[in-house]
Amino acid sequence: MADRDGFIWYDGKLVPWREATTHVLSHSLHYGLSVFEGVRAYKTAKGTAIFRLREHTQRLINSAKIYHMPVEHSIDTLMEAQLEVVRANKLESCYLRPIIFYGSEKMGISTRGVSTHTAVAAWPWGAYLGEEGLEKGIRVKTSSYARHHVNVTMPRAKVASTYANSILANLEATQDGYDEALLLDVNGFVAEGAGENLFIVKDGKIYEPEIASALTGITRDSVIQIAREFGLEVTPRRLTRDDIYICDEAFFTGTAAEVTPVRELDNRTIGSGRRGPVTERIQSRFFEIVGGKAPEYDHWLAYI
Ligand code: PMP
Repeated sequence: MADRDGFIWYDGKLVPWREATTHVLSHSLHYGLSVFEGVRAYKTAKGTAIFRLREHTQRLINSAKIYHMPVEHSIDTLMEAQLEVVRANKLESCYLRPIIFYGSEKMGISTRGVSTHTAVAAWPWGAYLGEEGLEKGIRVKTSSYARHHVNVTMPRAKVASTYANSILANLEATQDGYDEALLLDVNGFVAEGAGENLFIVKDGKIYEPEIASALTGITRDSVIQIAREFGLEVTPRRLTRDDIYICDEAFFTGTAAEVTPVRELDNRTIGSGRRGPVTERIQSRFFEIVGGKAPEYDHWLAYI
């Protein structure tokens, strides 16, 4: 990733990609406290547009607030930085990674006296769980690792340290040949995927796990609004893993994962073992919206 052409926005200005470096004694590298976002931009007939830019940028600021990290830039500057990075790299469709992290003034757990830095990078990134996954669905395994308790890492923040838990879960699942992991909370109820929120469809109704120990996903919010448009309310429930085994359809949502059907959990086929009809309808509406083909959702698109 470090060795490529292009530009990264770094503390207020665009710098050549290879020069966007930081010191090995950066506080965030040692203690895992940085906050970041995953954002996507899509090609539309009116040019490239970043999907729900304001909501992602607000979540970044909220994540920093939760962890007492000073944010050196206004929301408008951070939004403009993301637009600028897409423009400067001449990208049509891409993934964006804004990050706020601590510098290298000192070691020790306290962050007092340590400065924060802000960077935004963008690069082309296709279907996170594979093109085939989007169409046919993926195979998921329940993780032996629990999702963090809400008083361990706070789930409203998208904070790097949470992802050590995600990485363990993802590795465990993928090393056993599955595509992704599903994490339960410390009480054994379904929380979320390693980097995705989960929805299920049962008897024509859509349910999601209670959001207590999961990230409040922006794709999740978009799906809830799309479902409403179809006359379907999404009901939060305390879901158990066997609720998923016997549902009609299940799907993951996330900026990277978009809307990915889950066709199997723990070697139990979900529904027909294919992308279900409700999932397909929501997924195709989602791609219409991000692709600028639904004028009523134009307010979700920030054209570069
Ligand atoms: N949960 C986790 C743990 C994630 O990393 C992500 C991806 N950001 C999501 C859920 C989905 O969030 P969003 O739709 O905002 O990308």
